[in-house]
Amino acid sequence: MKLVTAFVVLLFSLLPDSSTAEDFDFFYLVQQWPGSFCDTRQGCCFPDGAGKPEAAFGIHGLWPNYAKCRGRHHREGGGLARAVLGADDAFLAAVGRRGKCWPEYCGGGGDGDGGHQLSPWDVRDLVASLGRSWPTLSCKNRRSFEFWSYEWKKHGTCSNLDPHDYFARALQLRERHDLAAVLADAGIVPSDTDTYPVDRVRDAIAQGTGFVANLECNRDADGEAQLFQVYQCVDREAKDLIDCPLPMPTKCTDRVKLPVF
Ligand code: AMP
Repeated sequence: MKLVTAFVVLLFSLLPDSSTAEDFDFFYLVQQWPGSFCDTRQGCCFPDGAGKPEAAFGIHGLWPNYAKCRGRHHREGGGLARAVLGADDAFLAAVGRRGKCWPEYCGGGGDGDGGHQLSPWDVRDLVASLGRSWPTLSCKNRRSFEFWSYEWKKHGTCSNLDPHDYFARALQLRERHDLAAVLADAGIVPSDTDTYPVDRVRDAIAQGTGFVANLECNRDADGEAQLFQVYQCVDREAKDLIDCPLPMPTKCTDRVKLPVF
């Protein structure tokens, strides 16, 4: 009998692990101010067929993240640990070479991974909401579905959620707080001339949502810093906001613009 038990245990230990659960620590819900996406040297385009999106923060993505970067050259603390919370492109490129701060392309990155491609059928009941809340602004591809597919492939496949839940939860999280209204309540309204102390923006979001978020700025054509993206931290089930565990390096200056859209 002992022999049979040992054989069964051995058999199971030899079977491939059917669980592909990713062990990330939290999500970022990244929302962006469309005025700041468009108000750059590059500019923007509106989605085909849908026209100009409303002047509201739109979803960029729901990104699984590690609380510390991992990899062969992993170092505790310092720059690498901070990098998990996002940074400017050059910083992220440098970190990416040294350690992995987030899982990505968990279904494979190539074109041959048909099973992990987003299908319109997966999100058929969400398309209208996604069109409003997660619009493309890219001039390279003006179909929002392509933007959702890219985000699903790069980040969603690592989320431990199926495509429908991944998009539904991102939408539900965004619905909870209208960030433009939260800022307006604190007197921070879109303007092409006014600037606001970045601490006031941070405090307004913490007060209005109940949780500390991270902020990312970009530059307008004149090189002025403007609030670009808000990174809200979310639990591993993508259900509830949490305080962001670590601050992130940013390009925000003491005062930032919120350009009109
Ligand atoms: P990610 O790789 O998930 O960090 O996303 C970065 C990519 O998303 C870049 O190619 C951006 O140009 C693109 N991106 C960011 N915001 C938008 C947007 N609103 N519409 C379309 N593409 C976007």
